[in-house]
Amino acid sequence: MRQVTVLGSCGAFPEPGRACSGFAVDWDGFRLVLDLGYATLPRLLAHWPDGVVDAVAITHEHPDHCIDLHGLFRMRYYGAAGLPRLPLYCPPGVLDRLAGLEPDVDLTAVFDLYPLPGTYQAGPVSLTGVALPHFVPNAGIRVQADGTVLAYSGDTGPDPMLAELGQDADLFIVEATDRDGETDRPVRNLMTAAEAGRWGRRAGARRLMLTHFWPGNDRGAAEAAAAAEFGGEVLAAEEGLTVRLERLLPLR
Ligand SMILES: [Zn+2]
Repeated sequence: MRQVTVLGSCGAFPEPGRACSGFAVDWDGFRLVLDLGYATLPRLLAHWPDGVVDAVAITHEHPDHCIDLHGLFRMRYYGAAGLPRLPLYCPPGVLDRLAGLEPDVDLTAVFDLYPLPGTYQAGPVSLTGVALPHFVPNAGIRVQADGTVLAYSGDTGPDPMLAELGQDADLFIVEATDRDGETDRPVRNLMTAAEAGRWGRRAGARRLMLTHFWPGNDRGAAEAAAAAEFGGEVLAAEEGLTVRLERLLPLR
């Protein structure tokens, strides 16, 4: 069984009852987490009550994508001593943020760091981090095995590498921050929902999921704007939503 469950869908800071970026991936029994932003850890524990995780990939060091990795660190360090070190795929700045919170503890006791960008074998999947434009180094993440492809942008401005990241993906999770005035900014480090749809189409993705909604944004309007550009099924990330990863036919 291959599926993705949304732990959080908000950009920057959470809305009431929601969380920031995070996804729990079940891949034939292998448990992979993509991002662990504000308030995602309790949702991860609701999804996997035994707290066992096989690998974590974090797109970048902003706290709305990595702060609950600190909680997971403490769980493993204080609550689950003796477990093997946890493979952590991320730009190195993520560990620097954690080190600031735990200056007197050795993080490598818990985490086995695999720096992104890069390509690695993570359990049954090939995991690739692709550099994308953001205020800090951000790695979009592509996970694939046996012809099934899952891709996730993290936070990014419009960039041709998005088409490579999401090429033929069965599910392409793309940020749709849609902050006011986004397209007027001289340097683009985030996207609109319409741009998410456009890049999903350019990638040839078979299904698109929007995420990282700016708090207060109209998510229905975002879905409509993306659908007008994408031309296929568009989902809006929603806490607790589970999507099966199945090989889908190309849209065109
Ligand atoms: Zn963010």
